[in-house]
Amino acid sequence: NRQVRYVRRPVGRLEESSFAIEDAPMPSPAEGEVLVRTLFLSVDPYMRRQMLGTKGYAVPLREGDVMQGRGIAEVVESRHPARRVGEVVFGEIGWRLYAALPGEALRPVDRSVRPLSLHLGLLGAPGLTAWVGLTDHGRPQPGETVVVSAAAGAVGSLVGQIARLRGCRAIGIAGGAEKCAHVVRDLGFDACLDHRAEGLEEALRHAAPGGVQVYFDNVGGAVLDAVLPNLAMGARIALCGMIAHYNATGPIAFRHLQSLLDNCVTLAGFRIGFVAPERRAAAAAELLDWFRAGRLRWRETVSDGLETAPAALVGLFDGANIGKRIVRVAPA
Ligand code: NDP
Repeated sequence: NRQVRYVRRPVGRLEESSFAIEDAPMPSPAEGEVLVRTLFLSVDPYMRRQMLGTKGYAVPLREGDVMQGRGIAEVVESRHPARRVGEVVFGEIGWRLYAALPGEALRPVDRSVRPLSLHLGLLGAPGLTAWVGLTDHGRPQPGETVVVSAAAGAVGSLVGQIARLRGCRAIGIAGGAEKCAHVVRDLGFDACLDHRAEGLEEALRHAAPGGVQVYFDNVGGAVLDAVLPNLAMGARIALCGMIAHYNATGPIAFRHLQSLLDNCVTLAGFRIGFVAPERRAAAAAELLDWFRAGRLRWRETVSDGLETAPAALVGLFDGANIGKRIVRVAPA
């Protein structure tokens, strides 16, 4: 049974050398467990934070552990009364071809939703995060300007599109001209600014002369610092992620924090795992409706084979993905 183990704690930039690919004996399910065959794995920025090995954000990883990770899998053998062979389930599958897991730790998913990887993206944590963060913390009003960073990524690509569906002006921030073109041309944002180019703060001042009412932050660091002086009076910041900090070895300085005070800004950090089930269900329902009606565009960057998972994760920190990063482990 092929698996990926987390073997070396990264210092600074995550490298593929933090992982080892190896073959282990085939697991066999105990009473109450099921044997699943992995179909898709989700590759997410929070995994870098699990490697700190400290409590506080997701389950900490220890060196030597099989790499954790959510996935979609098919039940191939069941010793649990509620799980049936052939069911497709979501859960903490881990980076391996087969896993024996407690039946109650797995949630069956709707097989008619295709591709099944949508359960990890649009209808998974990224989609729910985009919808809940913008709706409940950004609280955008029609006509307002919403800015989102990592705008070509899984969460960010949805935030701007949802903002437009709610009658707002959407400005993305992304790395490079190609991604910015995708964000405007394919996703329908009103504008997109390149954070790798010089002068982001000034570029945003030109793009949002009336100020920014909502900033959905996926990045933190220098990008957040460039947005701060552009905030309008009474602005809201939905603090979703700070990926610019995850590989950092030292402190990151901010020059413009005082803008929070001067503009009476509300800053709300939130984590989707702590959001009420009713809000998550509302998010999933509306996202699926919009998607089926052709009102939301959704992209995935998919690579084939379990062995591609380490490079996929490393690539998130280089901006190598457009849309949700997925590893297809077996044909679904
Ligand atoms: P993405 O698909 O957006 O991929 C990450 C992107 O981040 C990259 O493509 C890159 O885009 C950008 N990026 C990476 N490093 C930097 C950097 N140093 N400075 C600026 N941009 C950088 O990932 P997700 O959509 O899955 O996640 C986005 C954010 O949301 C993450 O911070 C994640 O931790 C957070 N998150 C939070 C949740 C919550 O509950 N609060 C739930 C899910 C995600 P580019 O090329 O444009 O720079």
